Amino acid sequence: MHKANQIVAGVLSLLESKIRAGLTTHQLDKWAEEYCRDHGAEPAFKGYRGFPASLCVSVNEQVVHGIPSKRTTIHDGDIVSVDFGTKYQGFYGDSAVTIPVGTVSRRVRQLLLVTEEALARAIEQVKIGNRVADISRAVQEHVEEQGFSVVRQFVGHGIGSNLHEPPEIPNYVQKKASPRLVEGMVVAIEPMVNLGTEKVRVLRDKWTVVTADGKPSAHFEHSVAVTADGPFVLSSRSKGDN
Ligand code: MG
Ligand code: MG
Repeated sequence: MHKANQIVAGVLSLLESKIRAGLTTHQLDKWAEEYCRDHGAEPAFKGYRGFPASLCVSVNEQVVHGIPSKRTTIHDGDIVSVDFGTKYQGFYGDSAVTIPVGTVSRRVRQLLLVTEEALARAIEQVKIGNRVADISRAVQEHVEEQGFSVVRQFVGHGIGSNLHEPPEIPNYVQKKASPRLVEGMVVAIEPMVNLGTEKVRVLRDKWTVVTADGKPSAHFEHSVAVTADGPFVLSSRSKGDN
C-alpha cells in the first residue's frame, strides 16, 4: 500500500509542478494516467462505477469528482483539486491536494491552508485505541473555528484491497457509536471544506459535486496507516511533509 500511495504522491507532485493557467483539465488527466502506468500501477478511478477518467479534477466551487474535459480551461485565480487513486499489486492508494493557480484571494488561500491544517490535525489522531470520531472531531473543530464549513454528504473511508472499505471517516462528529482504530488499518482521511454553506449538490453529469452557493471548496486527502509507532502517512509527498 505504501508503493501504491507513493505512485499517487508522484502523480500529485507532477501535477503541482505542471499546473498553470491555459491548460485544460483533460491535459492533467493524461499526465496523471501516463505517470501511473509508467510506474506499473492502474488508475483506480477509471471505470469505477463508470467514472470516465483517471483523475478527479474539481475547480473552484466544484467540491469533488469533477470530470476532466478538453472544454475546461484553468484560469489565473482558480483553485484546482486533484484527486488520484492507484491499484498496485492488488492494493489501493488514494490522495488529493488543492492547488492555487496564479493569484488567489486571501480568503481562498486561507481556505486551503485551514483544510490542509485540518488534515494534519486529523492525522495526529490516527493512533491505536482512538476512535474514528477523534479524527472527525479534529477536522470539524479546526474548520469551524476558522469560519468555514465541512461537507457532510461525502466522507473519507477505509482503504486496502478495495478502494473504499469500512469504516466511513466523516469530517464531522456523528451522534452514534464510532469504531476504534486498530493496528494495520489504513484510512483515507479527506476533509472537504467549503468557504460558505456546507450544502452541496451533484451536477447533471451525475458526478461533479458543487457547493450549493457557488462559493469555493477545498479538498486534501491522505491514506494513513495505524501503526504501533503512530500514524504512517503512506501518501506523503516528501519526508516530514504531508
Ligand atoms: Mg481520493
Ligand atoms: Mg478517498
